[in-house]
Amino acid sequence: MLTTGEKGNILVLSAPSGAGKTTLAHTLLAREPRFKFSVSSTTRPQRPSEIDGQDYFFVSDEQFRAMRSQDAFLEYAQVFGHWYGTSKEHVESLLAAGHSVLLEVDWQGARRLRERNVGALTIFVLPPSTEELERRLRNRGSDTEPTILRRLADASEDMSHWHEFNYVVINNEVNSTVETILSIVAGNNTKNRADSPAICEQATQISSGYSR
Ligand code: 5GP
Repeated sequence: MLTTGEKGNILVLSAPSGAGKTTLAHTLLAREPRFKFSVSSTTRPQRPSEIDGQDYFFVSDEQFRAMRSQDAFLEYAQVFGHWYGTSKEHVESLLAAGHSVLLEVDWQGARRLRERNVGALTIFVLPPSTEELERRLRNRGSDTEPTILRRLADASEDMSHWHEFNYVVINNEVNSTVETILSIVAGNNTKNRADSPAICEQATQISSGYSR
């Protein structure tokens, strides 16, 4: 049974592909050793830069199905045609060891965690603009063109869910965005609340600016 205690022991970061979430997560983990990354399982093919067991556990469809039927996931979702899931046992053991846990999941996963009432603090990361999002996605150079096009098309849908999160941050520059995230975690930030007027205005503009 998951017991999280105070809010913020589980930090959820969600973003469309290319918003810079992975770099943010790495920077945050390096800055704040009390946070441990929850390594998800996925059926997506491994990218050359990725390490099995560190970035993801890369599993087959069959293995993923078996884990689902064993109720091994705290949440799971299909994203871009592949399955992704957060290990219940992994998160529970990190929490039990006194760590805070960083989850990098899509909006569906964040929604599921809310429904399960695990007391997570949820943050949606937006890119500064949709043009910048496309540029970052292409510069990554790790995906095939059809994958990039699909991810760009899905970005608009992803971004439309920003208001379901507790906070929204706009990732202009990684270090200042990490500072903002840390101020949210510390409970010292109201300006990035998803219901603050300035955030509503900016998030609406960025998330609707995508046309392709
Ligand atoms: P990528 O394949 O680019 O690493 O991730 C694609 C999407 O899947 C991202 O939005 C990422 O946050 C999401 N994702 C990664 N792991 C999980 C997970 O365990 N659960 C859910 N629901 N989404 C995940």
